[in-house]
Amino acid sequence: MTPNELRAAILGVKRWSHADQRAPNKPLMMAYALAKYIQGHGQMFSYEDEVDRDVYLLLKRFGPSRKAYHPEYPFWRLFNDGIWRLDNAEECIPRSSNSDAKKSELIKHQVTGGFSDEAYELLRNDTQLATELLETILTESFPESIVPEITTQLGLEFTFKRVQKRDPNFRREVLNAYNGKCAICGFDARLNDDLFALEAAHIKWKQFNGPCTVNNGLALCAIHHKALDKGAITITPEMRVAVSDSVNGGGIVEQLICDFDSKQIQRPRQTKHLPLEAYFDWHGENVFR
Ligand SMILES: [Zn+2]
Repeated sequence: MTPNELRAAILGVKRWSHADQRAPNKPLMMAYALAKYIQGHGQMFSYEDEVDRDVYLLLKRFGPSRKAYHPEYPFWRLFNDGIWRLDNAEECIPRSSNSDAKKSELIKHQVTGGFSDEAYELLRNDTQLATELLETILTESFPESIVPEITTQLGLEFTFKRVQKRDPNFRREVLNAYNGKCAICGFDARLNDDLFALEAAHIKWKQFNGPCTVNNGLALCAIHHKALDKGAITITPEMRVAVSDSVNGGGIVEQLICDFDSKQIQRPRQTKHLPLEAYFDWHGENVFR
């Protein structure tokens, strides 16, 4: 296996996601293993002692909101992508519905998993390659505002240097459309003539084919942009703020976030710039918690 073949295989894994739905199980499992390799971990990971706790936390923090989280799915299913090795897996009794092993079986048989021998041989000797692949996986699956939180949880400093491809006009056009104010709270601080802490947010993430067009954008202050990307808030098709029940914090959080629940947001100056309902629907289903 060459580095390019490994790159292609990892990018191939991402493409199983259907119809722009977020499915970050495999990306987060691979990111976890790569980050651990960068920190000197050996090839294989214990399901019981490592993955069941660590990848669970990653899925819970950074995946779409679910009733339950299943780190055993990507741990098991990556094997079918041809870049993953499982040891002690032969004895595991599969579920009745598919060929996946149950979590209890992974624990009972002390199953370990990690990148395949060929892939690990490349990664072990090349931290730069591991870092590059980690960066690719995260930036293909999460917006820029979230990636540093994930790398911190993975125990790494955020040192990626990739220049993000973006439409150079997106920010300017979105801020203009909303008159240089946060669509939620009206924040419009300037230092002399420079707006600061006002950002152009994508409603449907670029990573899931959300376009860099004004009708997929909102002008938001840094706090409300982050709250939108984290799924702490969403915007309903009626252009009202919805705040997640999971948001909590002191009085300032009430003022900055909770008090905006069900409030109408500012509309853009021109009707042609109104956000499309489909983008709000995507955000509500895939990001809002
Ligand atoms: Zn705001």
